Amino acid sequence: MKSGKQRRQEMNLDRAARRAADAALAQKARLEERIRKAAIARGEKIRSLASVSKKILVNAANLGPNVSCGWPEFVHRGYYVDLPFTCKACGVHEVWTATQQKWWYESAKGGVWTAAVLCRPCRVKERERKITARQEHFEGLERKQLNTKE
Ligand SMILES: [Zn+2]
Repeated sequence: MKSGKQRRQEMNLDRAARRAADAALAQKARLEERIRKAAIARGEKIRSLASVSKKILVNAANLGPNVSCGWPEFVHRGYYVDLPFTCKACGVHEVWTATQQKWWYESAKGGVWTAAVLCRPCRVKERERKITARQEHFEGLERKQLNTKE
């Protein structure tokens, strides 16, 4: 037969062991929670960095002059997005990429309210047509000047 004192001691030991086990479990849970949060934070940081690096950002300081009082959507948005469009001349479907837009607005200083309307081959043709037209115009002027001198 166990004495009352022995039983009390056993119960106390039991309780102490349970408390220790609970504390260890709680500590383990806290540690796992911390690791989980750190992993989430790392993941979010990586995700947000990736999405930022993929975005072609608008640098408003580089934009050409804007005579209108408002600003187009891409300036408010802060980054360029690929824009599908239909060529005005040949009707082909093309995409005006974010990179092309950044070049157009910020390097070529194209008007902020202008957008691509011609596909690449038609743009080349249009440029050649303008050059020829200008040449013909100057050649015409030259002929006129020569005619008046005669
Ligand atoms: Zn075209």
